[in-house]
Amino acid sequence: MPVTPPEQSFATAQVQAGFVSGVAQNTAVPPIYQSNAFEFSTLSEARDLFALRRDGNIYSRAANPTVLVFEERVAVLEGGIAAAGVASGQAAVALSLLALAKSGEHIVAARQLYGGTVDLLQDTFADWGIAVTFVDQDDLQAWADAVRPETRAFFAESVTNPIAQILDLRAVADIAHAAGVPVVIDNTVATPYLQRPKDFGADISVHSATKFIGGHGTSLGGVIVDLGTFDFSAEPARWPQLTEPYRRVAGGSLVERFGEKASPYIALVKTKYVHDLGPSLSAFNAFQLLQGLETLDLRMSRHSANAQLVAEFLEAHPAVARVHHPGLPSSDWHGLVETYLPRGAASVFSFDLHSTGDDAADFERVEQFIGRLHISRLVANIGDARSLVAHPASMTHSHMTPTQLAESGITSTTVRLSVGLEDPSDILRDFGAALDVV
Ligand SMILES: *Cc1c(COP(=O)(O)O)cnc(C)c1O
Repeated sequence: MPVTPPEQSFATAQVQAGFVSGVAQNTAVPPIYQSNAFEFSTLSEARDLFALRRDGNIYSRAANPTVLVFEERVAVLEGGIAAAGVASGQAAVALSLLALAKSGEHIVAARQLYGGTVDLLQDTFADWGIAVTFVDQDDLQAWADAVRPETRAFFAESVTNPIAQILDLRAVADIAHAAGVPVVIDNTVATPYLQRPKDFGADISVHSATKFIGGHGTSLGGVIVDLGTFDFSAEPARWPQLTEPYRRVAGGSLVERFGEKASPYIALVKTKYVHDLGPSLSAFNAFQLLQGLETLDLRMSRHSANAQLVAEFLEAHPAVARVHHPGLPSSDWHGLVETYLPRGAASVFSFDLHSTGDDAADFERVEQFIGRLHISRLVANIGDARSLVAHPASMTHSHMTPTQLAESGITSTTVRLSVGLEDPSDILRDFGAALDVV
């Protein structure tokens, strides 16, 4: 412990006494490096760090040691080469695509996307001159037909929310690669435990770490992973942001500076988009997300097993019109489970109560059902340890047009579930009692 020199005045001591920067404390777990900025040992070191000539900590918007542990851990779990932790899943989706497509360019995206992603692609990207074509993700011809010379990415979710459709990723990736563009997969619902998109041809994966990665409903976060499979130097003219000299790096382009192995793509995400737009992941949230990652396999197995029981129970109940769960033989996507989700068919899915034919009466019916639940809670979130329910038509998807709702398979009686980690018999009893009322 440093001894505070006796001559330090009160005002100096209150900000400096008792601390020496850079001293290792041999903690057994990654600590929270709750520091905005980091001290340089010399000005030469600072100059090299700023020129990206060497790695090190400068300022937590750019990089933070707790966040780096989180990034490295997710990259390993996804089989990727590098990752960027960001403030939310929304930031992960936005930045992953901004690093690929600029004004005048184009993205092909699945129609079956998280509502926030639809808003981003349809409104904000349109404002910025980035065109998006939405296709039914099961229609392989539609993906191929949507490609234009200026297409720069394909985007889809490995397992969709709320209808739990499974993407035929291998087939979609083959079309993207034939067109020379990378595939970005939102792997939030599956997590790398249930599916590694890299195994099926994805090039970049993104997550709302807010959901299953954190797993406890306490911390927003997102992550972008370069899976290391896409060769941006194959057609350099298409990717000037990576292959042409980059003002922020001493000496040449990001590809020259970082090589394919160290991910020029993630370097671009961090040094340009996180740096300029500012959606950094906080050290505290990275710490929370690391706690979640440590039990990801255990939780995902339990979530999936519980969800399978709930799906089977609901399908057999007379008050239920339809259950959208790929683990059931009645699902159109059941045939893809063995290939894409062999460890469990995920725990976010939906079911429809019988409709009265009248939207207002349907709303009453759903309200009555949800009002009777005690274990499952009405919350606009997924991937929590607790079981959650939501009514997409009046909540997450309320601003969609009737056509968009119909295309997404959402009706006025669709109820979304995110089945939690409680004892499955309690979850089933709770649903049974509430359904008996409607
Ligand atoms: C929640 C979610 C997002 C957005 O993540 P936030 O952390 O809420 O910003 C993106 N994609 C999917 C599939 C999600 O479920």
